[in-house]
Amino acid sequence: MSDAVISEIFESVQGELPLMGYRMLFVRMAGCNRRCPLCDEPHALANSGPAVKTMTVDEILSEVEKHPAADWIWFTGGEPTLQAKFVNDVITRIRTSNPRKKIGMDTNGDLIKSRMRLDVWCVLVDLDCLIISPKFNNGGVENDGGGWYKRFDDLTSDIVKWKLREFTHIRLLVTDAVAEFVAKEKDPFKFADGWKNPVILSPAEGSGVTYKSLWTLMPKGSRVSFQAHKIFKFK
Ligand code: SF4
Repeated sequence: MSDAVISEIFESVQGELPLMGYRMLFVRMAGCNRRCPLCDEPHALANSGPAVKTMTVDEILSEVEKHPAADWIWFTGGEPTLQAKFVNDVITRIRTSNPRKKIGMDTNGDLIKSRMRLDVWCVLVDLDCLIISPKFNNGGVENDGGGWYKRFDDLTSDIVKWKLREFTHIRLLVTDAVAEFVAKEKDPFKFADGWKNPVILSPAEGSGVTYKSLWTLMPKGSRVSFQAHKIFKFK
């Protein structure tokens, strides 16, 4: 029986992105391969220590049973793909025990590119919603010379190839450096042409970017998403 390190598990209402307003059971997986300076979940970065608990698949299933009103189970982090085998085991069990539940995940997308990671792809193809939030190499504090753009482009071709685009959204947390880069480019989200879903923009917490400046910036192929849980201060 597999187990995983979990930062926290709680029920709340999704405050952002396409599923805003849905009641969800959030499973925050502990640990991340990045250390973004503007990370808004720093407590979830460690994969050991007192803030982390080890849980089995059965224990997660038991939590699901305790939250019958949550229509969605949402895997977040940290970076959930680092524990993809466990996530896959949980999804397989939920599909059998609670077939009406929907399942989603957000990820920084780094492991999606390593196609040898079959465990990651097994998770992706069985989701009802996937949010990919790629990061600048340096966490978005400085312009990384378009490296992030190349990763977006690569991700897009993989997602299209694997026919995941119907339920996949790319979300960009906009720092000052990202805003500067996007403002200079003529058609920065060209890679999203032909996608069902536009690139979602939200201000990065701790940056100088505001919703107003995002509305001014918005290039073709993008939309702005509020983060209601931050505005109204609920978890
Ligand atoms: S990828 Fe996400 S969870 Fe990981 S450090 Fe960056 S913002 Fe935090």
